[in-house]
Amino acid sequence: MPDKTIAAEAARRRTFAIISHPDAGKTTVTEKLLLFGGAIQLAGTVKGRKSSRHATSDWMEMEKERGISVTSSVMQFAYRDRMVNLLDTPGHADFSEDTYRTLTAVDSALMVIDAAKGVEERTIKLMEVCRLRTTPIMTFMNKLDREGRDPMDLMDEVERILRMRCAPVTWPIGMGKRFRGVFNLLDDRVHLFGAQHAGGIEAGETIEGIDNPRLDEALGEQAEELRDEVELVREAGNEFDREAYLAGELTPVFFGSAVNNFGLQELLDRFVEHAPPPQPRAAETRTVAPEETPLTGFVFKIQANMDPNHRDRIAFMRVCSGAFERGMKVRHARIGKDVKIANAITFLASDREHVETAYPGDIIGLHNHGTIRIGDTFTQGESLKFEGIPNFAPELFRRAVLKDPMRMKALQKGLVELCEEGASQLFRPLMGNDLIVGAVGALQFDVVAHRLRTEYGVDCQFEPVNVSTARWVYSDDPRQLARFQERQQENLAEDVSGALAYIAPSRVNLQLTEERWPDIEFRATREH
Ligand code: GDP
Repeated sequence: MPDKTIAAEAARRRTFAIISHPDAGKTTVTEKLLLFGGAIQLAGTVKGRKSSRHATSDWMEMEKERGISVTSSVMQFAYRDRMVNLLDTPGHADFSEDTYRTLTAVDSALMVIDAAKGVEERTIKLMEVCRLRTTPIMTFMNKLDREGRDPMDLMDEVERILRMRCAPVTWPIGMGKRFRGVFNLLDDRVHLFGAQHAGGIEAGETIEGIDNPRLDEALGEQAEELRDEVELVREAGNEFDREAYLAGELTPVFFGSAVNNFGLQELLDRFVEHAPPPQPRAAETRTVAPEETPLTGFVFKIQANMDPNHRDRIAFMRVCSGAFERGMKVRHARIGKDVKIANAITFLASDREHVETAYPGDIIGLHNHGTIRIGDTFTQGESLKFEGIPNFAPELFRRAVLKDPMRMKALQKGLVELCEEGASQLFRPLMGNDLIVGAVGALQFDVVAHRLRTEYGVDCQFEPVNVSTARWVYSDDPRQLARFQERQQENLAEDVSGALAYIAPSRVNLQLTEERWPDIEFRATREH
């Protein structure tokens, strides 16, 4: 049954993530957006995370980064009559799966581009991910206070490489030393850039109307240049079209300078107005509408809390429908058990509070003592499973080798728990006692080894193993599957969830095996 309060609360939620190439300005934009939401304290916290980014080989730094990122990985702030949830995506390429799953939990994305560099490699990758779910995207061209590329060229590049039409909402007045502000094409208003913009919330003179004589006073010859450019842009460019934006075909473009907190208010104002509220979400049996009364949600991320005194993990759940109330009982749909959630965490940017109520689009942190996995669905009794949160086949494999054989139990426990977080995956071959860890990036092995040592007291090494790729195997024909399992035992393993995977010693071997077993499906992803 639809509920009025829930529908209204859902309608004012805006849940999004920022996609960008490292150094384009994601952290700076995040910080400034939080300022608009009145969360000044946290702006410092976001900054703190930065120091560690270039020292990813330094374990202490990594721990610090992870510790802080529990609190800053979801930031909620109120702006106007909206409630905005900004989900952080990890910066390092090795954590790309985590990023992918985070993008399954948002309704839209903000793409930040360095105007001097244009479309960079990581942005392209993230864009591909957004495209899988046709996530609507707004674009912020950053660092206009520096010499950069021609704005027209930048938009051309987005159109060409990212295959998305660009509709400029603001237009820059000069750049670098000549950067004087932006013109808002929708409001016919100029916003002047000045030295006073460093720090605080955006201020500065606004001039109504591009033909206003005040513009000539303020800008001199640049006023005429602007008029010419705007005429060109209006003729040659696309107009903002909300339907096309929501369909992921067009991106509204804003120009500015994040570090000077300039141009972001224009962006935020349009964002809260046009970005989509929580959408209906597909589950295996039906589609769930946000305004439905019973609570539903899914877990998209699990993260260890680095506080060594409370060694529990936090499961991040996105609310899809209904309202979450503190102390409420929910059904853990996969294991069919009811659990009471007494102290869920909310991520209100001003401080990390315990949740009272959360609505569709909100993220809550559940304390996980090992029973929650990525992809798990929570309901109020219904047996339901949300779709679309995949596991990717890892590309690197190593065997965990223990220094002290007496610590086998602890090693197994540690690996299972760490792999539940999803950044690395555990495979247990059907034959022998090996524990094989698969990851998408080499850094993961160092992280796992380090955490096994500090969190589980287990000294282990990762050694090369003769596995080059993995595929989850399925078949509609149970007899074929049984025959396959019998014949191929030496190359089969179970993952953490007990699903069967073919671990191939080489790509060629995989190809030959696929040809030899046409009734068996070899999948590169597994739905959680
Ligand atoms: P991230 O790696 O995407 O999170 O990027 P950061 O927000 O850390 O920014 C990378 C660098 O660019 C930092 O040194 C910022 O101070 C700088 N930066 C961010 N925004 C601007 C801007 O508008 N103008 C200039 N000149 N530098 C900026």
